[in-house]
Amino acid sequence: MNKTSSNIMALAPNTSNKRETVCIFGTGDFGRALGQKMIQSGYPIVFGSRSPRTSNLIPKEAEVLSHTEAAQKAAIIIIAIQRQHYDFLTPLAEILRGKVLVDVSNNLKINQYPESNAEYLAQLVPGAKVVKAFNTVSAWALQSGTLDASRQVFVCGDDMEAKQMVMDIVRALGLTPLDQGSLLAAQEIENYPLQLFPMWKFPIFLSLGLTAFFFFYCLIRDVIYSYVYENKDYSFFIAISIPNRICPVVALILLALVYLPGVLAAIIQLYRGTKYSRFPDWLDKWMLCRKQLGLVALAFAFLHVFYTLIIPIRYYVRWRNEDGIISKALNNKTDPFNNTNGWLSDSYLALGILGFFFFVLLGITSLPSVSNSVNWREFRFVQSKLGYLTLILCTAHTLVYGGNRFLSPSSYRWYLPNAYMLSLIIPCIVLILKFVLIFPCLDRQLTQIRQGWERNPQYSEQSNYIINKSAV
Ligand code: NAP
Repeated sequence: MNKTSSNIMALAPNTSNKRETVCIFGTGDFGRALGQKMIQSGYPIVFGSRSPRTSNLIPKEAEVLSHTEAAQKAAIIIIAIQRQHYDFLTPLAEILRGKVLVDVSNNLKINQYPESNAEYLAQLVPGAKVVKAFNTVSAWALQSGTLDASRQVFVCGDDMEAKQMVMDIVRALGLTPLDQGSLLAAQEIENYPLQLFPMWKFPIFLSLGLTAFFFFYCLIRDVIYSYVYENKDYSFFIAISIPNRICPVVALILLALVYLPGVLAAIIQLYRGTKYSRFPDWLDKWMLCRKQLGLVALAFAFLHVFYTLIIPIRYYVRWRNEDGIISKALNNKTDPFNNTNGWLSDSYLALGILGFFFFVLLGITSLPSVSNSVNWREFRFVQSKLGYLTLILCTAHTLVYGGNRFLSPSSYRWYLPNAYMLSLIIPCIVLILKFVLIFPCLDRQLTQIRQGWERNPQYSEQSNYIINKSAV
């Protein structure tokens, strides 16, 4: 049988239940793991190797042949070999003509080569139909069966039929193929597994920066100041008191920073009188990581709750209470109950509890399993309306905590206000701006702009236009 006819036969639709033989080039970790998984799914597998002999590591059911012999046995060839060794395929170009070559390779760095590995493979073997797939699945996940986190397989390629054949294999393995379009998408698919929490970088670095700043700020105000002026050693504050000051402060600032870009976007849209104009890059990126900012803020809020719960069992707190009682008894003094203080203390706690409750609710609704089960309007209601309510409650919690201490000179050590006073700046700015934006004259205009109305309609190139739906 000549080569061309064997290709046609192999590419023809399979009418029987028997699956078609698939060839895998390379008997390395990935080739073996994928081969084993495919054998379990009923595919006859033939390996193409430089040393065609079976070893204990290779699945018993699989045949191991030379590259040339193995390629002739299948219409689909999975290239489980690193890109730098692809040169060996050039002499096989004739045998590979018309075959479906599946590129599974990854690189060590993002955009390591000018073209994607899949495009490079297509250049080396011009007669083959190259499809990119499986690169986001690890050999370990295939072997251990822990594919829950990586069930999606990105697939791209220029030949629809070839892509369909590969997607059928993906489905047969119990995975979910996601068609990403032509081979041009390969570079992005190859970069995907190399990304390290791209959306989390800004929130994490920002929270670390704020934590470091407020740590030194509190250290100066609460420990060094007391040491210098009162000769008291409060260095043990570093363990609980200072973290319990930093956590709520960072949580509140981060929560406000979730809502600040939306407010800025609204101001920009009002100023420009159109939504068909790109936001600055930094604002786009900021808006994209709002969910992560909110979740990091929630983590700090949780820490604040835990630190607060252990306050009564702290030695320092117990000592101070006992000392206060004894000194009152010795001096025969009593403190009359102050109703205002009772109100301030209870309101402060109540606002904190409610703020935390809504904060947790926001966090839960941002989980994909929950957000997927509500429609866009419900999601906006929770994230926007309940989000602002959370911000109001948490800001009020901090304001009431300050109570009448805002004007007290003892709150300003070395002219430095308490950390919680600083934490109120951004939330208050966000809330004031939001309050101004809901004035009917501005709100009406903003709603019109978001529905497509333009103050000065522009007729520039279509490419300049982008509907930015993210400005909630
Ligand atoms: P590997 O363990 O190093 O195996 C690569 C195989 O390539 C070798 O076993 C060898 O097979 C063959 N080979 C090596 N040098 C060659 C050469 N000069 N000419 C021809 N063949 C050569 O690598 P791997 O981890 O299996 O990865 C294989 C491919 O899968 C890579 O492109 C990788 O990016 C991709 N991938 C891997 C994973 C993973 O979890 N490991 C996940 C996704 C994608 P023979 O000795 O049989 O010839």
